[in-house]
Amino acid sequence: MASILAISAHPDDETLFAGGTLAMYAGQGHDVTILETTRGEGGEIGEPPLTSRENLGTFREHEVRKAAQALGVRDIFFLPYIDPYMEINGIARRIDVPLEDFAKAIGEYVDRIQPDLVITHGSNGEYGHPQHIYTHRAARLALANGHADTALMSWSAWYEPSERERILNNDDRADIVNDITPWLDAKITAALFHKTQHAMFLRNSGAPSIADMVWKTESFHIWKGPLPTDLTNSTQSNTPPKMDGLKFPQSENL
Ligand SMILES: [Zn+2]
Repeated sequence: MASILAISAHPDDETLFAGGTLAMYAGQGHDVTILETTRGEGGEIGEPPLTSRENLGTFREHEVRKAAQALGVRDIFFLPYIDPYMEINGIARRIDVPLEDFAKAIGEYVDRIQPDLVITHGSNGEYGHPQHIYTHRAARLALANGHADTALMSWSAWYEPSERERILNNDDRADIVNDITPWLDAKITAALFHKTQHAMFLRNSGAPSIADMVWKTESFHIWKGPLPTDLTNSTQSNTPPKMDGLKFPQSENL
């Protein structure tokens, strides 16, 4: 079985861009771990507010831990960086840390987890978010520094036809397009746990509900192969994960 590490700029990116694929891998018995580079402290606190701005990082950590559980993820870690505050419709910013330091911090987790495959943001940051782009660059730099056996791919790779052209990375051609329909329940459940971000999800997507917003295909560009052999035909042996015992977020006191 393979070890897979997803590296995400903010809690929710891993869910929206690769949640179905992570659930699929986990359901197939692979070890899936998430590394969040921030706790999304600069994001939205919810409409109406679900927490205070001061407590948002802690709150979003709880949200993403529940989301990770829904996806079948084994473990989740957080880098100590603080996501800069962003006003609604304001200018997104990245963490103020030198790239080499950021890559080193990621590299320490790669050393510790020893993943066969790292999955992270695309080179265009999906819709150009600076922290998404910076995370992509830092992950690539981390793997260039002595992780010869670790494969690397990025999510939201460009393909045609696509149900969501707006947030695909135009410079990353899709090598893999996964139909994640069998894993959609897990992905929707995970997305529902990111409650502080729901108003933003709906505002940005124009979708009538979170379930409608969640994409049913996920695409990936391979930057560094080969992929672990037991992942190669990954979409052909799907067993949806058991959702028993996992409460929906509506009943959850985060
Ligand atoms: Zn993000």
